[in-house]
Amino acid sequence: MTDLHLPPLLWLVAYQMGLHALLWGACSLLLREARAAVLHWAVFMLLLGTGLALAGARNEPREWLFYNGANLATVLAFAVMRRGTQLFMRVESHDREQLGVLLPILVVIGLAGPSPQWAPLRIVLSYAVQAFIVLRLMAVIGPALKAEFGRAAMWAVGGPGLLIGLIQVALAGHQAFSWRAPAEMQQDTGTNQALMYVYLAGAALFTFLFIVMVTQRLLASLREAAVRDPLTGLLNRRAMAEAMERQWLRHRRTQSPLAVLVIDIDHFKRINDTLGHAAGDSVLIHLSTLLQNHVRGEDVVGRVGGEEFLLVLPDTQPQNAIALAERLRVLVRAESLGTTISIGIAIAHSVDDSAESVIARADAALYRAKDAGRNRIEVAD
Ligand code: GH3
Ligand code: MG
Ligand code: MG
Repeated sequence: MTDLHLPPLLWLVAYQMGLHALLWGACSLLLREARAAVLHWAVFMLLLGTGLALAGARNEPREWLFYNGANLATVLAFAVMRRGTQLFMRVESHDREQLGVLLPILVVIGLAGPSPQWAPLRIVLSYAVQAFIVLRLMAVIGPALKAEFGRAAMWAVGGPGLLIGLIQVALAGHQAFSWRAPAEMQQDTGTNQALMYVYLAGAALFTFLFIVMVTQRLLASLREAAVRDPLTGLLNRRAMAEAMERQWLRHRRTQSPLAVLVIDIDHFKRINDTLGHAAGDSVLIHLSTLLQNHVRGEDVVGRVGGEEFLLVLPDTQPQNAIALAERLRVLVRAESLGTTISIGIAIAHSVDDSAESVIARADAALYRAKDAGRNRIEVAD
């Protein structure tokens, strides 16, 4: 095996960053929901690759582009990465803070000149500002990561992020304490080689983790859309069937009382016919809010038909279910929604052999309420 000297290794890592940039760019065409963030990440990888490529091409006599330019590209890369990641996590982008920190440092790095006497200053400032960006980012997105993707995801991103930030602190510190020996990127030192492997691993990990998070977010929104009614945000018929089945099994196991309310708006067709479909929709939304505001946390509320709602009430005694139904009936009449509701109530008991049979009895009670003149509640036998 031949020894790999740093410039070829540096070029290889630069090439890898270019590839990541290209792939993130391609992803931005597919991932419409996360396009802004993904484009930032493409630019991040591109700038990082550019910085490395410029450092790989360093030569004598020293030219500004390959020395100062490389540092500027790398620092900008991290700033763009931070912005994209904060956009992705839907936290404030902190543009003023970034500008306030970056601008003076970029100006100093830019003005410092490519000569060796300025090299330590360029190097210390570059690493210090990169460390600041990475560590600040971790602090800012940590809680959001935990809230959306869980504790494991927070550490999967935060752990390596913290490590990279600390490595950058160490590099800045090391250069600050050995001012006379500038540790430039193109030099074939153990530290620089190790740094290239950190870059390789970091870029792969970054891409992998965020692709997983983009996918998780898409799945979560699909899952949510599959169980929600888009108009009211209540659980839909399918989700209610599952919720009812769960409560039924629990009732069977623990013998705790289980009550079911089927609620139907009276003469709803008339509202649509006289006031229009939009007015009908707003009555449905209003009633949904009212139902949600008057049940307990463990109760389940869903819209199971056009103007039909289902309430599943675990651990609820018959008299409490009846009291709730009566309260809802009176509230709707009083709310001047221009309408009333009829309610069928069923309490799970020994005649029931399934969740469906409890709901069927509540439905039958609802029909009796309708037949008896509407704006009433009826309890199934
Ligand atoms: P009843 O008292 O017997 O329940 O009479 P009703 O008019 O409420 O019942 P019917 O089943 O005859 O009509 C239900 C109406 O609900 C018909 C349909 O146009 C309307 N509807 C169903 N879904 C929606 C919706 O999403 N928005 C609106 N605005 N109306 C809806
Ligand atoms: Mg109706
Ligand atoms: Mg109906």
